[in-house]
Amino acid sequence: MPREIELWGHAQVAQAVRKRLSQLRQEISLGDSPPIDLEEIKQSVVEEVASAHDATLVSVFNLTGIVLHSNLGRAQLCESAIQAVKDVASNASNLEFDLASGKRGDREAHVEAMICEQTGAEAATAVNNNAAAVLLALNTLAMDRKVTVSRGELVEIGGSFRIPDIMSRAGCSLTEVGTTNRTHLKDYAEGVDTDTALLMKVHTSNYRIEGYTTNPTESELAKLASGLGIPFMIDLGSGNLLDFTAMNLPKEPTVADAIGHGADLVTFSGDKLLGGPQAGLIAGRADLIAQIKSNPLKRALRLDKMTLAALAETLKLYNHPEKLRENLPTLRLITRPKAVIEKLATSLLPEFASALGPQYAISVEDTLSQIGSGSLPVETLPSSALRIEVVSGADSDLRALGTAFRQLPQPVIGRIHQSALWFDLRCLEEDQKAPLVQQLGELNL
Ligand SMILES: *Cc1c(COP(=O)(O)O)cnc(C)c1O
Repeated sequence: MPREIELWGHAQVAQAVRKRLSQLRQEISLGDSPPIDLEEIKQSVVEEVASAHDATLVSVFNLTGIVLHSNLGRAQLCESAIQAVKDVASNASNLEFDLASGKRGDREAHVEAMICEQTGAEAATAVNNNAAAVLLALNTLAMDRKVTVSRGELVEIGGSFRIPDIMSRAGCSLTEVGTTNRTHLKDYAEGVDTDTALLMKVHTSNYRIEGYTTNPTESELAKLASGLGIPFMIDLGSGNLLDFTAMNLPKEPTVADAIGHGADLVTFSGDKLLGGPQAGLIAGRADLIAQIKSNPLKRALRLDKMTLAALAETLKLYNHPEKLRENLPTLRLITRPKAVIEKLATSLLPEFASALGPQYAISVEDTLSQIGSGSLPVETLPSSALRIEVVSGADSDLRALGTAFRQLPQPVIGRIHQSALWFDLRCLEEDQKAPLVQQLGELNL
């Protein structure tokens, strides 16, 4: 099999041959007499090696209606970021090299000033993700000491990030104060002692406590902390840099608001509302950022050159706020008008109808998209979807339909809801329409 060996390498092919032969031996030892056909053996070896070589990480159509979907890779990068990643990936770069002096430079010089400019912070640093940012900040400022957090903010995000767990891994002990729905300033004041190193507020990004509730403002907490001589840190999660209300979107706190209210440190994600690569940003007081940068853990959590390049280009877009809606995919998608999405849905309906045939009833329906990734968990964005119902009405047929769409060359991911398969078209941009339609003929129904 010279062609196969050329394609996949000798070791891979030999291993697949051995595997097939040992299967045959085992069948024979169990008393079977399988036909020994060289062509059949060759065919099964080719299939085995080829399937092991299929990429497992592939691009999909996100038609779930959740723009920043954590399981589907969150933010899509802007064009300039993609170009910058390609550039640093394929060439040597001045990642840690100061071109002016010819001496060693700081890799964060490529982003720090821009983060400060967009947030009003004195200094900033960046690590692998926001979970790492929280871990590093806690470990630097409060190892072997206490951190005070409200019982209403002991958040779990996506199963593996839980404030109490990250706290203990950072070497801190958690002091819970207040209750789930109501925490007062005096609860914080009374929960603090000489061993307390940090006052922490966590943005409850993926849920909301409503009704009989109270919480001190960020300014009140900042004042309390500064009176006690300890820092006040806010884990903001989504890390919005923009005034959303100016774009007719629901209000979401900004990093600059948090700094303006007196937070000494703010941690937030790069790939949520900011619309960049996976990263965790820490912005705040220069002396605290300097301590964080010199923590030995920082090296283990630092950003690689491709992420830094993408983050720098994403942040640069914020210097042109008037063009942000056009150039930043996350913002473009969440501000996409419903009328535009509905028009797209209407134009796709006949294509889906002819690919699916008469066993399926398809309609264009109003729906509600979400921003996702814990940003504005309750608010929704009016959108439009293709709704597909199985005429026979069997649930198993509906699930099989969902599977068939996920098995297309570029998998199409929708959502099963109220006995129908829904494809919210908010995240299908004009240029993706043709590739989507083209592959509908391959649906295996
Ligand atoms: C999303 C989120 C995190 C975790 O951020 P990652 O970038 O996913 O690591 C931590 N805290 C809050 C409040 C969040 O919303």
